[in-house]
Amino acid sequence: MYGTLYLCATPIGNLSDVSARFLETLKYVDLIAAEDTRVTIKLLNHFNIKKPLTSYHEHNKAEKGEYILSLLKEGKNIALVSDAGTPAISDPGEDLVKLCIENGINITPIPGCVAAVNALILSGFSTKRFSFEGFLSVNKRHRREHLRSLENDTHTLIFYEAPHKLIHTLADMAEFFGKDRKIALVRELTKIHEEVMRFTLDEALNKFDEVKPRGEYVIVVEGKSKEQTQSQQQWWENLTISAHVEEYIKKGLSSKDAIKAAASDRNVQKREIYNEYHNDK
Ligand code: SAM
Repeated sequence: MYGTLYLCATPIGNLSDVSARFLETLKYVDLIAAEDTRVTIKLLNHFNIKKPLTSYHEHNKAEKGEYILSLLKEGKNIALVSDAGTPAISDPGEDLVKLCIENGINITPIPGCVAAVNALILSGFSTKRFSFEGFLSVNKRHRREHLRSLENDTHTLIFYEAPHKLIHTLADMAEFFGKDRKIALVRELTKIHEEVMRFTLDEALNKFDEVKPRGEYVIVVEGKSKEQTQSQQQWWENLTISAHVEEYIKKGLSSKDAIKAAASDRNVQKREIYNEYHNDK
């Protein structure tokens, strides 16, 4: 009989957040696949658990996935853990889950922390509809295109970001979402310096003129309000198609993405915008 892959959520800062089931599972499995074995060994030592470990991360997931699959097929039970929080959420695991599904391996979660959900519930913004956007790409074109695709969304948006990129990301967000858009910057969840800052993107940028971002952050962005949607939708309505495309190019989009964006705003085919833009040149 095949073994089971247990997707085990680890604490995101406070070790007391582990569940009894998490500890039982780690004691029960034959092997623990960890994003970084040096991080996981500290957790195991804290709870006095001795288990064989193997690494499973972004750079070895193709061959390690096959190895883990072969052990599961032999009947071994395996726990997958990441450095913090829930595996497969902006962490390795998604590919292993797919591989297990394709091969008929049973997978089950051992639930625990997800930074995004805890930041959302602290934000004070609507929790009825939200989307998790993870990390923005480091590729300028992709991150701008990502933000542009969200600028008119009326539901709450949740992003992860590293502290050294935070200011840059807030500045990009201000450009696409507007300086007055409200955000909650949720820092160091479950740790001693846990903090929630609720302000506008402009106020956030002013704050970081004076202090350097430190620790781990989740950025929760309030969805665009109905009033903002109505007033801001008019920004391009009086522009020619070419001027509309040019506005996006000024914001840093490639001409291809600018045409796509203008087509999406106007709800017309890209070809229509392309022809008009190139005829005008
Ligand atoms: N799998 C994790 C989860 O379930 O939330 C997320 C891992 S992702 C690689 C790491 C990012 O999660 C960080 O850059 C930060 O945005 C967020 N994060 C993790 N721990 C956090 C904490 N204690 N406080 C605030 N944000 C945290």
